[in-house]
Amino acid sequence: MTLLSLDRLSKTFPTREGGSVKAVTEVSLDIAEGEVLGLVGESGCGKSTLGRTLLRLIEPSSGRILFGGRDLAAASPREMRAVRRDLQVVFQDPFGALNPRHSVGHVIAEPLIVQGIGTRASRRARVAELCALVGLPETAPSRYPHEFSGGQRQRIAIARALALDPKMIVMDEAVSALDVSIQSQILNLISDLRARLGLAILFISHDLSVIRHVSDRIAVMYLGRVVEIGPAQEVMERPLHPYTQALISAIPQVGARQADRIRLEGEVPDPAHPPAGCAFHTRCPRAMEVCRGAVPPLGRPADTGRAGQVACYLHPVAS
Ligand code: SF4
Ligand code: MG
Repeated sequence: MTLLSLDRLSKTFPTREGGSVKAVTEVSLDIAEGEVLGLVGESGCGKSTLGRTLLRLIEPSSGRILFGGRDLAAASPREMRAVRRDLQVVFQDPFGALNPRHSVGHVIAEPLIVQGIGTRASRRARVAELCALVGLPETAPSRYPHEFSGGQRQRIAIARALALDPKMIVMDEAVSALDVSIQSQILNLISDLRARLGLAILFISHDLSVIRHVSDRIAVMYLGRVVEIGPAQEVMERPLHPYTQALISAIPQVGARQADRIRLEGEVPDPAHPPAGCAFHTRCPRAMEVCRGAVPPLGRPADTGRAGQVACYLHPVAS
């Protein structure tokens, strides 16, 4: 069953020079109950803006955000408060996100307090349960966030996000600030929690090697648009979009030859002045004349038995 459905969601910011930047352009995608969708792209591609917009931390410019059948783009602040029970978020920087003056027990219980749920005693029991669930020591609730390492602090942030037993969590670069060995511990925790709790997760990261470990499906963003989306294995093993191919070839691999890497030419274009047509054409090793014309539509390629979708003129879309 579809839990979240974005329908041509767009977010435009005004610039200081009086222009505008399309940070997110007409993104349509679905996330099923219990599904992990990995959203990947270089810094500045709009993936965090997309996450924040669907959470209504940023106001959408246009489009719909259907969550459990309700359009969040049109929800009042009061309705959004109710939605928060089912839709939570974990950010990159657990230290910045946790109030240093509050005990860990208070930090984790905060969503329950805000929603007016339970008594002091029942909240304390729930906090103990959550600490066990995310692998925090029993003594954690009476201690303070600064007493914990980065990985442990991210467990605290996850415990807090789970306090209301949500249906979905948006995780924005949730492991990016951590050392690689700690990263894999937290990724294992996330996979374990999703299996046990049937959680849906939008897992946002610039790092495809992280995304591939947790995602059922992967969506690739470039300059505000989704350019490829499909089952994780299909996208990783048989990517169609030249940008996806470049991202994958950039993942360091044991024994891989440097010569096999696809080098991306040039910088990411200024989002305030995106190239016409396929926005990737200024860096694409396979760009053709047609690529400078109109934006290639995202759709299922006509000539393959694929489940996913791609937006590239090399792969005409089934009409
Ligand atoms: Fe490259 Fe053209 Fe495909 Fe864009 S549409 S990715 S420029 S081949
Ligand atoms: Mg970001």
